Amino acid sequence: MATSIHLDTVRKEFRTLGNTHVAVDDLSLDIPEGSFTTFVGPSGCGKTTTLRMLAGLETPTSGTVSFGDEDVTDLPPQERNVSMVFQSIALYPHMSVRENIGYGLKIHGVPKAERDERIDEAAEVLQIEAQLEKMPAELSGGQQQRVALGGAFVQDPDVLLLDEPMSDLDAKLKSDLRVEIQRLHQELDTTVVYVTHDQTEAMTMSDQVVLLRDGELAQVDPPKQLFDYPNSEYVAQFIGMPSTNVVDCAVEHRDGETVLVGPGFELSLPAGVDAPTAGRVRLGIRPQYLDVGSAGACRLSVDVEVVETLGTESVVHGRLEDGTPFDVVSDAVDDAVAGDRLDVSFDLADAFVFGEDGETILFGSERAGERSSSPAGTGGVTP
Ligand code: ATP
Repeated sequence: MATSIHLDTVRKEFRTLGNTHVAVDDLSLDIPEGSFTTFVGPSGCGKTTTLRMLAGLETPTSGTVSFGDEDVTDLPPQERNVSMVFQSIALYPHMSVRENIGYGLKIHGVPKAERDERIDEAAEVLQIEAQLEKMPAELSGGQQQRVALGGAFVQDPDVLLLDEPMSDLDAKLKSDLRVEIQRLHQELDTTVVYVTHDQTEAMTMSDQVVLLRDGELAQVDPPKQLFDYPNSEYVAQFIGMPSTNVVDCAVEHRDGETVLVGPGFELSLPAGVDAPTAGRVRLGIRPQYLDVGSAGACRLSVDVEVVETLGTESVVHGRLEDGTPFDVVSDAVDDAVAGDRLDVSFDLADAFVFGEDGETILFGSERAGERSSSPAGTGGVTP
């Protein structure tokens, strides 16, 4: 039966050659019962170490891990009802797919008839019924990973831990398996914790996403909330593809107004915003929220360097006049080529403002309509 998970100031230090490395730094977190929670972040940020502490494969240096009301911090893996699937596919080569999936049940003494029933059910959900009597070597990588998932699924765990189970698969298999894993979660009464460095996986599958940075919690929220309300420049840049454009701006005060002055544009902030009275801030604008042309109140020009055509839309990689990298995603730039100057615009509602410490000080969407921006530019692509 699914369980909630609670981490209370969990810390993991590794000591090597006289050095202490903090892999997980006082992490406190609630994972709701039955949810699909994804840990995401760059390599080395502590995702796998956290997952291994949930599995009981690592013991925290300090802090506690609880499943429901039970403190499991010091319980070994076999005393937690947890199944884990790793990145490297671990199947027994001399056993058939059916035997591989049922192995965990067999060593727990589950009778053959019940085993077969549960294996057939798992195979149906994972669409590998036709492979049940084959040997692992006869399967593709994607099918093998489905078998590994099946082996975890049939054990009916309280907690299913998945550590980058798709990272060795190609893009098409990944997108198929993303759907299978979500289907599996719907079938299971289990709490799923998934680790990936791929934010697309995190955003598409999860009820909540835990973004880590250097072992610390950067933000935990449902995917849409994380996308719309990143609490820092780090989160805004990690979540979303291509990454959020971030532009350095000077803060100026004119006639009681706060104006952000960037390369080739100015943006006036609404009264009452807790912006610095002087100095610099960073302005964040998602590439998808830029309008090609002059429909938005704040206009700027992008020197086009590379255009990637994705079918329904194109990604323009370019630079602002001071050389700041700046990307635009739009279905209206089919004709743009390297060397063009692309005029784009945005509204305050589409922007974030980050302070010098990287924290978000303004979500434009919350202040939209309170203030407009000053125009500069015409719109459209100019050669
Ligand atoms: P990746 O995406 O590359 O797998 P990760 O976010 O899962 O990275 P972890 O594997 O949790 O990161 O590692 C976190 C940090 O702890 C890294 O700096 C890593 O080198 C270190 N680390 C992990 N395991 C050990 C260990 N057994 N001994 C020493 N250091 C370790």
